Amino acid sequence: MKLVILGLSLSSSWGNGHATTYRALVKALAAQGCEVLFLERDVPWYAQHRDMPNPTFCRLELYESVEDLKRFAGEIASGDAVIVGSYTPDGVEVGRWARKVATGPVAFYDIDTPVTLAKLGRGDEEYLSASQIPDYDVYFSFTGGPTLARIEQEFGSPAARALYCSADPELYRPVDAPLRWDLAYLGTYSEDRQPAVDRLLIEPARQAPDMRFAVAGPGYPRSIEWPANVERIDHLAPGDHAAFYASARFSLNVTRADMAAAGYSPSVRLFEAAACGAAVISDEWEGLEAVFAPGREILTATSTGDVLAALSMSDDVRSSIGAAARRRFLAEHTPDDRAAVVVRELAAAGRRVRATARPRVAVLDRPRAALVAGGAGFLGSHLCDRLLDEGWRVTCLDNLLTGSLSNLAEALRDPRFDFLRGDVTEPLDGLLYGRLFDRVYNLACAASPPLYQADPEHTLLTSVVGTKQLLDVARANGARFLQASTSEVYGDPMVHPQPESYWGHVNATGPRACYDEGKRCAETLVFDYLRAGRGDARVARIFNTYGPRMSAADGRVVSTMIAQALAGEDLTIFGDGTQTRSFCYVDDLIRGLMALMECAEPIDGAVNLGNPDEFTVAELAERVILATGSRSRTVSKRLPVDDPKRRRPDISRATEVLGWRPETDLETGLSATVAWFRRTSAVADAQAEMA
Ligand code: NAD
Repeated sequence: MKLVILGLSLSSSWGNGHATTYRALVKALAAQGCEVLFLERDVPWYAQHRDMPNPTFCRLELYESVEDLKRFAGEIASGDAVIVGSYTPDGVEVGRWARKVATGPVAFYDIDTPVTLAKLGRGDEEYLSASQIPDYDVYFSFTGGPTLARIEQEFGSPAARALYCSADPELYRPVDAPLRWDLAYLGTYSEDRQPAVDRLLIEPARQAPDMRFAVAGPGYPRSIEWPANVERIDHLAPGDHAAFYASARFSLNVTRADMAAAGYSPSVRLFEAAACGAAVISDEWEGLEAVFAPGREILTATSTGDVLAALSMSDDVRSSIGAAARRRFLAEHTPDDRAAVVVRELAAAGRRVRATARPRVAVLDRPRAALVAGGAGFLGSHLCDRLLDEGWRVTCLDNLLTGSLSNLAEALRDPRFDFLRGDVTEPLDGLLYGRLFDRVYNLACAASPPLYQADPEHTLLTSVVGTKQLLDVARANGARFLQASTSEVYGDPMVHPQPESYWGHVNATGPRACYDEGKRCAETLVFDYLRAGRGDARVARIFNTYGPRMSAADGRVVSTMIAQALAGEDLTIFGDGTQTRSFCYVDDLIRGLMALMECAEPIDGAVNLGNPDEFTVAELAERVILATGSRSRTVSKRLPVDDPKRRRPDISRATEVLGWRPETDLETGLSATVAWFRRTSAVADAQAEMA
């Protein structure tokens, strides 16, 4: 499940209980396989006090304003679910926007339910408005019990569910520490809680001057007169909480007044203390018994006398209460238990959303999203760059067999770009789970003969199984599909130049067949998909293309010759050099691919994309020597099996239907390619690989 959470803070636990709650929950969600993006408003207070700026269990991103938040629209739209938390700055607007953009369920997570309901009662809509509650698919509430029925009946929530807080068992566990205090309390100052703190800690401290007490937490006014036996600690980092609990014989738990009044509202501190095996003395409220058994797992107190009586208990009783609380915590209240509630309820909400077929308004609002299989290769990486330039969100799926991340250096810096390492012959559901695409480009397949012949079976399956699977992805998304086919489907052609209507002359048993026949079969799959009415798809028959990012070592004629010329080596010509090729510059080709994909009219049949200017291989060698200024000569080698003798596209169809034709002549394209080869270490890499 891909989940986006918009919450108050994950990065800073200073002065809020939200961060530790989110940390425990998100970590457990991640452990259960959820991919979480946490979006936090960058505000000065938290910026100055970040105690977890780089969580390892999720991606944390900061945003400046609601406007700035909109750059995450694509991720919200493609996520499986969204959660908006209480006290999120501009929460009403953020929630409405998330509701509009998301395509899956959107939940509200109220870490402050009684406060929220009290606010709504007096018309204060700081982070939630009453009118938007019915629009949240689930209302996760820190308060359980009868309040849930109220949220559903009075406010119209379709599903109000208790989601109590918890504590991270790795951080909150029994530790060894010398006993320093008889009673310790950990909590930020709050006016409504202070009378209980006075009654249950300060007054007992006065009455038991021989005992030691501690109060940790920020915000306490200077006017409070602390007895001499009460130690004050202003801020205690979460990493020090366990030692704090271990240093006291008893821990005090005081619940905010409105939470105590609502009942069924256990505080974070209650679970943290229990997880540490602390013997907790808690104030009393309805529903406490639903969480811990009073008298056995927890002690309760309403008066100073109750506290003093508890403090006089033997260490054996005290330890057994702490141990029982920890057992109950581990059995029912761990973050894993809470994460399971979230996953279960969001999945159920997702089913409800799908059943009522909410119109996917978001598809219109979010940046359009493209999947580029084979996007790390020569052509694929140029396509990714061009799509990003034109405002697309791009996911590249590649096994890096012949492609490289260095081709994607620029794209990887763009937040709208995702790289997924995967093989199109393997199941794709898990890898692509929860992503939405409007376009699926299939360029996955090694294109250079020595590389595709290295593992012919895998090459064939890449074209056949890969194309079938990517067509399924397109179908599931309602996305348009484009297959990068090849002039090789014409084999060693008997018709010249080759129009799309030519059926080809291909050897089905030779060493090139894994590529040629694989591509032919992929075309068959696409046209059967179209005939069956499963969706919109296009096929580009690409002719020889060259340009920056070709690998010098992959055996393709242009890159091989440039690498040889720059290294001062003889240029290899296979056969007598009279065989012809037409060379299309990469920018022209990518423009053609995108024009074909974006053509509004359905396209009947394949479309040739290539440059019709035909050159012999010997002429190409001369041009390369000229463009590089090299002193290299040419040398002949035996023609490989099934090497086509003539290759030139008839592009009248592309020109007619797409208004496309190449614009870069060979001289210009070669000089840009040579410049790139000079700039990069491509030649050196090739030599290293050849050595
Ligand atoms: P390339 O080898 O540079 O790129 C192919 C990419 O696909 C690589 O990044 C590779 O790692 C990836 N890939 C291969 N098998 C995969 C698999 N099973 N799963 C996932 N990824 C896989 O080749 P290119 O020149 O960029 O060609 C791209 C596409 O265009 C290919 O389908 C090719 O057949 C077609 N094509 C290219 C030309 C050309 O002149 N460049 C001509 C005709 C057709």
